[in-house]
Amino acid sequence: MIPLSTASLKTESWQQQLADGYCSIRELLSDLELSAHFSPAMEKAAGAFPFRLPRYFAALMKKGDPHDPLLLQVLPVAAELQHTPGFTTDPLQDEAAYEGHGILHKYQGRVLLIATGTCAVNCRYCFRRHFPYAGHQALKNEWRPTLARLRKDTSIREVILSGGDPLVLSNDRLKKLIDALADIPHIRRLRIHTRLPVVLPVRLDSGLIEILGNTSLASSLVIHANHPRELTAVLAQALTPLRHAGVTLLNQSVLLRHINDDLRTQVTLSEALYELGVLPYYLHQLDPVQGAAHFAVDDHSALMLHRNMERQLPGYLLPRLVREIPGAPSKQTLPGSQNRKNFIAG
Ligand code: SF4
Repeated sequence: MIPLSTASLKTESWQQQLADGYCSIRELLSDLELSAHFSPAMEKAAGAFPFRLPRYFAALMKKGDPHDPLLLQVLPVAAELQHTPGFTTDPLQDEAAYEGHGILHKYQGRVLLIATGTCAVNCRYCFRRHFPYAGHQALKNEWRPTLARLRKDTSIREVILSGGDPLVLSNDRLKKLIDALADIPHIRRLRIHTRLPVVLPVRLDSGLIEILGNTSLASSLVIHANHPRELTAVLAQALTPLRHAGVTLLNQSVLLRHINDDLRTQVTLSEALYELGVLPYYLHQLDPVQGAAHFAVDDHSALMLHRNMERQLPGYLLPRLVREIPGAPSKQTLPGSQNRKNFIAG
């Protein structure tokens, strides 16, 4: 039995729910009636990248199913301890793109701001699972050096708040930061990359909606849903006021072996996103981060899947199949995903 009742999930603040999340693998497996599946290697894997999970998201998992696609995304497993050639601790060379004061500058006209190193959930496939957040984020109560740097570079049109998950910050802190960004004349757009709406929809509270609805920056929220079962009525309800406030809603997902690498799941995901007012934006090939090789889908299978999605979905519901390549000027569309001649459909 999941200890938090649906009623308490409705009444507790998002901060309380964040603090009350699972950090014990044994407890989660016991609540999911999967205690027999526990192994000490799971705790070893969590030693390298901690286990953390909101109870709301755990409540969406099927009890007694060790292959539940939501569980597989968050449960530490022995496979994470294996070293796979080509899988590294800094697969996107974030270190090289780090400019200081929380700023990662990879692409022309936009910068990524590491607003915090904390997430509500630790996704086991995360490309930043080894990122040295200490010393690589904007200082906790001091945005000034970060803002000074952004003010100086007039080529920057868009700031992307990332992390960690920027929505773990309080509304007060977010408002101060967003207001300060809006005061910089050349910055016109704000984008927030966050998994919190999916794993804890209550985070989309009225204060946040007011902040994003009132800023002069054109704002988009990029949520991160990988599976249609993550798209609940609770999430739909939480997203509606954001849409009404004029915030553009997009989704990016990661293609994950045995989780969402089949046609039915991907088509259902895109269609269900649209019903929530969210456009599928990117479908990422996994970044080769150490500890996540067991999630990888080979390029041929990814292309085949994407081609078959293209047959079943209107163009506006087909996410771009992309890979990030360190040093490239933008995300790279997988060769062949837009060129049918190069592709042999299966
Ligand atoms: S929420 Fe995003 S940044 Fe945090 S662990 Fe998951 S994928 Fe990584």
